[in-house]
Amino acid sequence: MDSRSFRQKSASSIPGELAARLLQDGALLPNPSAELISAAEWMESKGLIATRVREHVLCANPLDRDFPPRVRTCRGRLYLDQGLDEAGHEFRCPECDRPIFPYQHQKQKHKELRVRTNCQGIIAYVLSHLAELEANTREISKGVFRIDIGSVGVLLCIADFCTEEKYLTLDWARTQPTCYLAVNSQSMADRFLEEDWIRRIPLADLVSGKVNLRDEVNGAATMGNPLRVCNASVPVYARGPMPIVVEAVSVQVPGRHFTVECGPESVRVEGELVIPKSAGSRYLIFRILWERFLGDMAKTMAPAEHNLMSLEEIVKEVEIRCRKYIEDETAIRRYINRLQTDIETTVKKKIGLPIDREDIIQTCRWKGQKEGEFGYRINPFTVTARPYQND
Ligand SMILES: [Zn+2]
Repeated sequence: MDSRSFRQKSASSIPGELAARLLQDGALLPNPSAELISAAEWMESKGLIATRVREHVLCANPLDRDFPPRVRTCRGRLYLDQGLDEAGHEFRCPECDRPIFPYQHQKQKHKELRVRTNCQGIIAYVLSHLAELEANTREISKGVFRIDIGSVGVLLCIADFCTEEKYLTLDWARTQPTCYLAVNSQSMADRFLEEDWIRRIPLADLVSGKVNLRDEVNGAATMGNPLRVCNASVPVYARGPMPIVVEAVSVQVPGRHFTVECGPESVRVEGELVIPKSAGSRYLIFRILWERFLGDMAKTMAPAEHNLMSLEEIVKEVEIRCRKYIEDETAIRRYINRLQTDIETTVKKKIGLPIDREDIIQTCRWKGQKEGEFGYRINPFTVTARPYQND
């Protein structure tokens, strides 16, 4: 590649501030501006992130015609893309359970942009920039690349993806020419050790064109040993979960997986109770989906092939197991929606892991015959099954 293609590649017109917001895995950005959405589209086209715009209405919004509801302070938000039928009174507040008529009452709609960073895409993007150095580059550990340049070579470590602690220690950084790249730069100041000589590059600066990776690597290749270094062997970058704040900031977990244990009465995700014994019907529904999931696994089915259960199928199963007739199918659908919300909230609050609403129970559209209808399954891409562990 010649230098012209390098210039083209880095010449995105995305401001660094927007790129930085979009590089927070699991972030939920409310009321995205047109500028933010177009930046997201560009970054998605480069494979850096995956995004989804969702729309919701608020149960209690003083600007809506149906205000005030019975619970004036209800904080429920209702997503409009769940395939629910307004005429059939299927829109219900997930908090107070009242029926809501978003269209009939012309309720104010709020947009939000959900962002997932794409580990493979980011690595490919970084490698495409490194290619400009025309030096031999190879991955020596997850997220760590050795570039044959200068007298001893230079390492590029994508701190968010690196799983081998040794590359993240001060001992390493001061003896080996290393550039650290941070995908989530929002908390960089807290995560990196306060040493001026550590070469840390926010990926957002690379995306916005503020920083040229070639110059950084060349700089590291010619850099001598740091003059003043504190003596303790401490990490240069702190790992571990980040706090969930308004814009759900989280550390990237490469190849996101959640260990799920389904016991005789309750369910845990990553060892944390998400469905308690008292959940009754919600536990039963989870159990029904779980058994289908294990059945598909036993048949060694590929994740994409895993079966969806329709609402009718789930209702039928609940009827068989409870030995009673379910009159209101939509109640079951609400239980599933609540399960998704509860699990997401619990995992975010208690464990601080980035999780999407559908990482444990997935809602999918049917393909082919039942076009337009929805089906449910345990997410075969993100869930790892583990036998229920006794305390
Ligand atoms: Zn409500």
